[in-house]
Order: sequence, then structure tokens, then C-alpha cells
Amino acid sequence: MDGHSDFLIIGGGMAGLSAASALARTGQSIIVLDKGRGPGGRMAARRVEIGAAQVSFDHGAQYFTARDPEFREIVEAWEAAGVAARWPAAGDEAWVGTPGMNACVKAMAQSLDVRWGVRAERLERTLQGWRIDAGDHTFTAGTVLVAVPAEQAAVLLAEVAPDLAMLAAGVQSAPCWAAMAGFAAPLAYAPDTFRSDTGPVSWAARNSAKPRRLGAETWVIHASPSRSRELIDLPKEAAAQTLLADFCAATGTAPAVPEHLDAHRWLYALPQAIKGEGARFDAMLRIGIAGDWLHSPRVEGAWLSGRALAERVCQERLASTS
Ligand SMILES: Cc1cc2nc3c(=O)[nH]c(=O)nc-3n(C[C@H](O)[C@H](O)[C@H](O)COP(=O)(O)OP(=O)(O)OC[C@H]3O[C@@H](n4cnc5c(N)ncnc54)[C@H](O)[C@@H]3O)c2cc1C
Repeated sequence: MDGHSDFLIIGGGMAGLSAASALARTGQSIIVLDKGRGPGGRMAARRVEIGAAQVSFDHGAQYFTARDPEFREIVEAWEAAGVAARWPAAGDEAWVGTPGMNACVKAMAQSLDVRWGVRAERLERTLQGWRIDAGDHTFTAGTVLVAVPAEQAAVLLAEVAPDLAMLAAGVQSAPCWAAMAGFAAPLAYAPDTFRSDTGPVSWAARNSAKPRRLGAETWVIHASPSRSRELIDLPKEAAAQTLLADFCAATGTAPAVPEHLDAHRWLYALPQAIKGEGARFDAMLRIGIAGDWLHSPRVEGAWLSGRALAERVCQERLASTS
């Protein structure tokens, strides 16, 4: 047995850690499992060496908004702690993690018991609560909260919480191929961002122009959902070359040979979120769900969903003790 806790949260992305941070204030014990090797989820940052320099690419979420007053407070605290900064190139309301997009998730995880590199594989309801099998690890908990993309939640929940699994199974996420390119000299394209609603490249950003990024000229290029589907089975080297060529064609930039070129395929990048849900908690089964797919397909939506789930759990606790 690797641990027992009042709450076991599967998924240490923004939604899972938002729920964990809010529940931690109740003084109950919480363990978070995340299959990733490090913090971020879809707010990931990839570190690579180009020449002798270490650079970091934000290959998932590019920036985030903080329109909700409570989320804004949190983001301002991150800014004061040096893990977030405004990035005006993406808009007046745009924020990024510093020095990488995953810095905010990393900061949230610091005060929590998060087990990285642990994938929950099977849930089982027991007389005392829940048993969670995670490869070589086993955990037990009074309550389980699942904060993973909808498609992955549907699989985990199918046997133990069919209603929640059905809700998740109804959500479809668009994929996104992301190319990461590093160059010896600045590209001959002046703006730091590029967006298109119609072309094969939906977004590109001069990653090295974000606040507190060090090192060479780097770009992240995102293929549109339809282009990503078209290229879905390509090897990553070929996808990276195609995205770079698409970007040069879309912006009229003279092709340059990159010093570094790689790609990452996000299978479940952007969900068609269910409106009006926020989160769900089944008080009888003591299992709940959160994630951007239950609010809005953004970092802020994930944070709000996690907080909504924590509130539902606390409300139910109050109701059952009054
Ligand atoms: C390419 C791309 C571009 C984006 N651009 C933006 C943007 O510009 N602005 C914006 O606001 N948002 C953007 N988003 C969306 C944003 O990243 C997400 O809405 C947000 O990060 C979702 O957080 P989450 O916690 O719901 O999910 P995730 O970040 O996906 O977290 C889920 C976590 O669960 C873990 N997990 C999954 N299954 C298991 C398991 N069985 N056991 C243990 N752990 C598991 C994963 O490792 C992951 O860390 C983008 C996303 C992508 C992919």
C-alpha cells in the first residue's frame, strides 16, 4: 500500500491542483496522482538544449486569461511570486507562466503531496471507500476526484461511475500538432504572434519573446484542428517539417533551416466543453469530476472547474453534518 488519504485526486493539471489547493484548506489529507514526469499537463513546457544553451518551449497552452475575480487574485499572487507575468504580445489580458508555462502548476504542487509519474489504471469501490490501482502502486481513499481529459475520464469511470462516464463519453476534443523550432538567428517575421481561423496554422508564437525566456530564437507552431486531423498519423519529424512549411507559407517568411525541430501530438487538446456544468460530485459514491471540459477549454476554465468541484464536496459535507 502506497498511501491512504481522505481525497485521492487523479490528474495534477490545473483543474486537479485547483481542487486540491481548495480542499487542502479543510485540513483533510490529499494525494494527487499524475502520470506525467513533471508538472504542467496541457500547460507543459519542454526543456531542450540548442547548442550549449538550455531553452524551454511552451508546446501546450500559450497564454491564459484571468477574468474571474478569484482567479485573478491567484494570478496576481503568482505574479508577485515570480511564476507568472503579463504577455502583451498576445493581448491586454494575456498571462504566461515564468520562466515556462508550467511554472504556475509547479508552484501549486509545491505545497501538495503530488506523486508524479504514477498513472491510475483502475478504480474499485470498497466498503471503506476506494482502492486505486496504479501500476506497481496501490492507494486507498475515502473520496476520489478525477481531473483528466474527458476521453480518459470516460475509460477510468466506465465500470465504477457509469453516469459520470457517460457524461465524459459525450465530449469530443480536437487534436493539435505542435511544432517546436529553434533558429540561430531571428526569423524575418516581425510580429511575435500569428493567428488564423481559416488556415492550416491556427497559432504561432515567438516563444523566446515571452517574459523571462532565455536563449536562442524559438517558435511554437500549432496546426489547426482540421490540419492536425489530416496529419494525425504522421511521424513527429514529418509533422514538424510540415508545420514549419505551413507557417512559412502562411506568413510569407523565407524558409530558414532550424537548429532544432521537434513536434508533439496532443490528442485531446481542446474539448467541446459542456456548458453549465462546472463540475460534478456524486455524494453517494463519493466520486467527482473536474476539468476544462466541464467549464471552458482554457486554463482559467480548468481552474474554475477544480474550484467548483471542491466547493461541491464541501457543501455536501456541510449538508451531511447539519
Ligand atoms: C496545444 C494546446 C494549446 C492550448 N492553448 C491554450 C491557450 O492559449 N490558452 C488557454 O487558456 N488554454 C489553452 N489550452 C487549454 C489548456 O491547456 C487546458 O484547458 C488546461 O490546461 C486543462 O487543464 P486540466 O487540468 O483540465 O487538464 P490537463 O492539463 O490535461 O491535466 C490533466 C492531467 O491528468 C494527468 N492524467 C491523465 N490521465 C491520468 C491517469 N490515468 N493517471 C494519472 N494522471 C493522469 C495528465 O498527465 C495531466 O497532467 C491549450 C491546450 C493545448 C493542448
